Amino acid sequence: MSVQPVQIADRLNGVSDSATLRLNAAVQALKAQGVDVVNLTAGEPDFSVPEEAKQAAIDAIRKDQSKYTPVAGLEPLRQLIADKTNAQQPALSSTRPWTAKDVVVSNGGKQAIFNAILSTVNPGDEVLIPAPYWLTYPEITRIAGGKAVFLETSQERGYRVTAGELRYALKSGKVRALFLNSPSNPTGAMYTRAELAEIGDVLSSSPGGERVVVISDEIYDRVVLGDRPFVSFLQAAPQLRDRVVTINGMSKSAAMTGWRIGWSVADARITGAISALQGQSTSGINSIAQWASIAALKLPEASYSGWTEQYAKRRAVTLEILSKAGKLKVFPPEGAFYVFADVGAYLKPGEDSFGFCERVLAQAQVALIPGTPFGAPTSVRLSFATSESQLRSGCQRWVDYLEKS
Ligand code: PLP
Repeated sequence: MSVQPVQIADRLNGVSDSATLRLNAAVQALKAQGVDVVNLTAGEPDFSVPEEAKQAAIDAIRKDQSKYTPVAGLEPLRQLIADKTNAQQPALSSTRPWTAKDVVVSNGGKQAIFNAILSTVNPGDEVLIPAPYWLTYPEITRIAGGKAVFLETSQERGYRVTAGELRYALKSGKVRALFLNSPSNPTGAMYTRAELAEIGDVLSSSPGGERVVVISDEIYDRVVLGDRPFVSFLQAAPQLRDRVVTINGMSKSAAMTGWRIGWSVADARITGAISALQGQSTSGINSIAQWASIAALKLPEASYSGWTEQYAKRRAVTLEILSKAGKLKVFPPEGAFYVFADVGAYLKPGEDSFGFCERVLAQAQVALIPGTPFGAPTSVRLSFATSESQLRSGCQRWVDYLEKS
């Protein structure tokens, strides 16, 4: 009998693991050789988990709070999440507030998004993804058998999709879901309330809009850098309550990336489907992390303001240094902790942002993330979730390199 290679399921055709793995391997190899690399790739806050959350986890372990939890999560945690969401959506919560039963706690925002798409998208359905996008959206869409349809935005127009563009995309009659991500990874763009309301109006009034579920990824809600406040999508479009899945979590807001706590808030029909899916896959998530999240969510908003101030300062430092590179097209972010820059003017013939980042790493010892897997082949993402000294040194090296190349 001949030995056959193991079959890999068709649903994983074309699904990539992590497009940035190659670059990370190169960073690690350089570091192993003792090279002083400034790493500006972090997708997570560099701050420590709040002490109250750590203590709550220790207490939970000591109290043996380590049995299975309900699939959707501990009731007090879900209630705190409902309260937080209601506070961000007063236009809706004054009449139809969310309650604990509308919440499913998952293994990070990523699983919450996976659950939402797998629960609502059938093979062949179109999923609208404004580009540049968080690189996981198309991959999850592909796993669900959906067809990713990209809505191209540009730096000149603030990396935001317009109501008119959305109306046009709905004409296919096959759109089932729309991703929104404000503030955005990778661009740092943030929609205004009026823009979100217009998008909501299109979904309420245009043919095809009535079939669409919105996945509103609000994971960077606390990382807002300018004067404009964060706006939750349902605050601007409360009429869509039954068709929006609001995604959030502890990763970026409480620096708890490794604890894997995210959630979805949605109407009973969607929440029921998400619970069923999660119940047959991962079940309820780690009980200790849930108790830690309860403590973190009980902290007053003001206890996180020091982080926001630091992000704002680092943003200013980054923009100031990068302004010295004449041909770099930098987008000043309004939220999240990234600066997205178009490096088109510096690309060599045939080179895309992957090649560019490899070159900058090898020759200037600065690690950046290429925009290609985010749907922006001539841009790069720089993270300022790192110390100010590292940031200054990395930005300066990069600018020096660009100016002499
Ligand atoms: N959404 C966006 C836009 C992100 O950038 C991330 C993480 O990088 C996530 C969701 C998922 O975060 P987590 O699974 O850590 O909660």
